Amino acid sequence: MNHVLLPIAPTANGRLHLGHIGGPMLKMDVLARHYRRLGERVALIGSTDPYDSHILLRGRETGATPDDVVRYWHPLIERDLHAVGIVPDRFMNLLDEPWRRRNHDACARIIRDLRANGLVAVRRERFPFCTATAAFVTGGFVRGRCPQCAEPVSGYFCEECGLHFRPEQVIDTRCGFDDCTPEEREIPCLYARLPDPGAVIRRIADMGVPDQYGRVVRDYLRRQGPELRLTHPGTWGVPVAVEGSPVPQVAFTYVVCGLAFLTLSAQIGAEELGLAPDTAVHTVASFGFDNSLPFLLGGLGLAMALRDLRPTDHMLLNRFMTLDGSKFSTSRNHAIWAADLAAETGGDAIRAYLADRSPARSITDFSRAGFADHRDKVLRGRWREALRYAWTKDRAPGSTAPSALMSRLDELLSAQDRALAPANDDLPAVVSAVNAWVDDGAPSDGAAWWLRGLALLAAPVTPDFAGRLWQSLGLAGEPLVHSSGIPAVPREAPCAMP
Ligand SMILES: [Zn+2]
Repeated sequence: MNHVLLPIAPTANGRLHLGHIGGPMLKMDVLARHYRRLGERVALIGSTDPYDSHILLRGRETGATPDDVVRYWHPLIERDLHAVGIVPDRFMNLLDEPWRRRNHDACARIIRDLRANGLVAVRRERFPFCTATAAFVTGGFVRGRCPQCAEPVSGYFCEECGLHFRPEQVIDTRCGFDDCTPEEREIPCLYARLPDPGAVIRRIADMGVPDQYGRVVRDYLRRQGPELRLTHPGTWGVPVAVEGSPVPQVAFTYVVCGLAFLTLSAQIGAEELGLAPDTAVHTVASFGFDNSLPFLLGGLGLAMALRDLRPTDHMLLNRFMTLDGSKFSTSRNHAIWAADLAAETGGDAIRAYLADRSPARSITDFSRAGFADHRDKVLRGRWREALRYAWTKDRAPGSTAPSALMSRLDELLSAQDRALAPANDDLPAVVSAVNAWVDDGAPSDGAAWWLRGLALLAAPVTPDFAGRLWQSLGLAGEPLVHSSGIPAVPREAPCAMP
C-alpha cells in the first residue's frame, strides 16, 4: 500500500506553536510512522501557504515584502516541525521553483476545468473599499463580527463557528489598513457552483468525518447555497482574469489553492515514492475545523465535480487547543513555540502529551503543569521504571517469544491500528496502548521480547525513544513489525539502556 499524507500548509507568517503541532501536524506524522512500522510506503508532504492575506498583514507590520515574509518564516516553521520529530519527505516553499510554477499551473487548470464544465458563475457583490488607501479591503484585512455567531472575525472564515461568508455579510466592518469604516463598492467575482452538494455530504459522512464538522458544511449550504468563492481583488497570489472587474483579482487561496494543494501534493508524494503517474495512492489530509468549508466543500466537492481530479480519500479535522485555558495567540504572545520547548524537554515528551490531549473531536488544553506532570509521572515515572526493570532481566532473546506476550502485543498493535484508522482518528488510544504494555511490565522469561514490543508500540508517538531502544537491542533501522508480528533477532549484543 502507498500512502501520501498531507498536513495543512501553515501560513508562512509566524512560527508553529504547540496548538499547530497538536492539531493537524502531529497526527500525520504519527500515521506516517505507523504505516512505516508496518512496512508500507509513505510520503509525508508538507508546504507553507505563501498567499494567505495574513502574509500581507505581517508585511505591513514589519515593512517587509510578502516575498520576504515567506522566505523568513518558512524555514522557521520547518525547524519547529523537525524539533518535534516531524520530518516531511518534502517541505515545499511554494515561492521556489519548480513548486511555484506547478502551483500556479494547478490553480489555473482548476479554474479552466471548472469553466469548461460550466461550473463558474460571475457574481456581483459588495466589497469594503478603503478610500484613504484607495484599495479594496480583502481577506484578513476585513475585520468585524461573524454574521452567524457574532464573534470577532478577521477574513471570511469564523474560527468560532466555522462559517464562511461574503465580506458584505460581516457585521460592523472595519478596515485592517487604517481601521476606518470602509465604503462598499460593487465588483464581479468568480464563484464555483457545486453540481451535486448532496453527493458531497454523503461522501463526507462515508469518510467517517465526525458529524460536528459535516454540520458546518450543511449549515453553509443552507445559508449561502452551493457556491464557493474562487476569486477576490488582489495582486499577491495566483492571478485570475475576471470579466468586467475594474481591479486585478487573484485565486481565493482557501478554495482554489486548497484544492491545488491537495491534488498537487498528492502527485508530488507519488513522485517521491517513485510511482508511475496513474498509480493509485491512499491520500489523507489533516486540517483545523476553520478550514472545514474550503477543504470539505472545495477540496472534496470540486474534486468530485472535476472528473480529472482524484478526491482525497480521507480528511481529518480538529478543534483547537488552548494554552492554560485560553486561546493560543501570537499577538498576545500567549504561545509556546515547538522548537523552544523541544530544546528543553526533547520532542518525544511533547508528542506524547499532545497525542494524549488530541483535539480531534473537542477543544483540549495544553496545560504547562499538566505537561510537566505527564512527563514526570508517565514518561520519567512509569515508562522508565518498567524499562529499568526489564533491563535488569536477561535480555538475550530466547529462540521463541513467549506466546502470551506476543498475543498481548498483537492485541495492542491492533488497538493502535484501529485507533489510527482515519475514520477513528484517536491518538489518545495510541498512547493508552503503550501505557498498557508499560503497566503490564516485562515477564521474567521474555524481557528482550517485551523491550522490542515497547519499541514497536512507542514508535509512532515517541520515535526518538523507540528508535534508540530498538537500536540498543541490537536491531537495525527503525522499529518494524514483521509479517509474523515478531521483531527480528538482534544481530549484535545489546548496549546501554536508552
Ligand atoms: Zn461565527
